[in-house]
Amino acid sequence: MRDVIIIGAGPSGNIAALNVAKAGFSVEVYDWRTKIGDKLCTGIIGQSCYKEYPPTKSQIYRSTSSATIVAPSGKNYLINNSNPQAYIIDRISYIEAFAIKAVDAGATYHLGKKIVSVEITDKEVTVRSEFNGHTEVSTSKAVVVATGFGSPLLKMAGLGNDENKNFLTGCQTAVQTDDLSRATVFLGSQIGHGSFGWLVPTKHNQALLGLATPRKLNGQMDSLIKHLINKGYFKKTEYPIRKWGIPVNPSTPTYNNRALSIGDAAGLTKPTTGGGIYYSLISGELAAKALINALKEEDLSAKQLRLYEVAWKSLLSNEIKLGNFARRMFESIKDSQIEFLISKLMTDDVRGDLLESNSVSFDWHSGIIKEAVMHTVFGKCLNILTPEFTRQKSDMRSTGSFEVA
Ligand SMILES: Cc1cc2nc3c(=O)[nH]c(=O)nc-3n(C[C@H](O)[C@H](O)[C@H](O)COP(=O)(O)OP(=O)(O)OC[C@H]3O[C@@H](n4cnc5c(N)ncnc54)[C@H](O)[C@@H]3O)c2cc1C
Repeated sequence: MRDVIIIGAGPSGNIAALNVAKAGFSVEVYDWRTKIGDKLCTGIIGQSCYKEYPPTKSQIYRSTSSATIVAPSGKNYLINNSNPQAYIIDRISYIEAFAIKAVDAGATYHLGKKIVSVEITDKEVTVRSEFNGHTEVSTSKAVVVATGFGSPLLKMAGLGNDENKNFLTGCQTAVQTDDLSRATVFLGSQIGHGSFGWLVPTKHNQALLGLATPRKLNGQMDSLIKHLINKGYFKKTEYPIRKWGIPVNPSTPTYNNRALSIGDAAGLTKPTTGGGIYYSLISGELAAKALINALKEEDLSAKQLRLYEVAWKSLLSNEIKLGNFARRMFESIKDSQIEFLISKLMTDDVRGDLLESNSVSFDWHSGIIKEAVMHTVFGKCLNILTPEFTRQKSDMRSTGSFEVA
């Protein structure tokens, strides 16, 4: 019997496999894909992710210290920072590299095999995989569900599965652009209420064009494409639009007897942008740590594995709550209000205090959200538009913290 079976070879599954294997335990990773890392994603990571889980030079298409925001009216605003804020990476190569390291450390990978069931008893975990019409059965002491968004396996393993209630739909295609030098974000009801679009340059005049929406996709991507072709950004799309879900709320519990969920399967992403690579890597590492301890103690009970959830909550919970709060605010405002807020944000003093301050982090959003709410000028604008902020602000003053329900 193996020590651990990991289902999913995305960032979360690979880093968990790497750490468990490095500690000397046997690990098997299953993924129905044959190409590791080839999952719908733009491949942007922030400074913290870059520093803690560094990509190689050849995995980086470009670093970026600036971005253009296109307001609902079509007006362009440039945000410029002195240091790189984010990196646009070759996602497949970056994610695959973790798997290669895991194999070097002793993990075994089964690609092209889909896990169709998980059964947990007091003694063991049994998973069934399907491959070319054949079924195989494997057993382990513990299982990690790292399947990404929307897996029925979570329920089978007795893990939380709230994804269907709270998620964004992300879609993406590629285009050829002539001179796109920085990432461009599109806002406004034309893109979709509460939605945002992006055009992110990668390499050789190519760019990824995408959109994330809290609602059902209903032709918004087609109208964004038409709109941008009319504006001369590109001539045509290079391949069909692909879409996939992005959870924006943790699906708890993320632990059970002999089982843990990590990454998107656990609902761990930044709710503001839907970025999840960094949190997937963090949660994969924390899960590995909890599993290693549990294996050493020979205690794989839910009580023991709960330490994993305690660990990610202490690191990410408030970030996710604040991120969701900011996202709900964004979803509640109209085009004219977005326009007003962006114009205020771009005035010299607000811009210096917020956008160009040290609190700006592509990975950690609570700092800038708190500063925006508390800002003498910008905070007042938010109060006028979104009275819910007023209550939060007084909570923050009285308690010194910014807890959001
Ligand atoms: C359009 C779009 C753009 C995005 N852009 C960014 C971005 O720029 N930056 C960022 O940080 N995040 C981005 N994200 C989010 C990011 O892709 C995810 O948060 C991240 O990939 C989650 O990693 P994971 O390891 O949890 O799951 P995944 O990367 O989804 O990996 C899960 C793996 O499990 C496998 N699997 C699933 N079910 C089974 C099964 N039953 N049997 C075997 N294998 C199975 C899948 O094949 C997959 O390889 C984007 C998402 C979308 C939709």
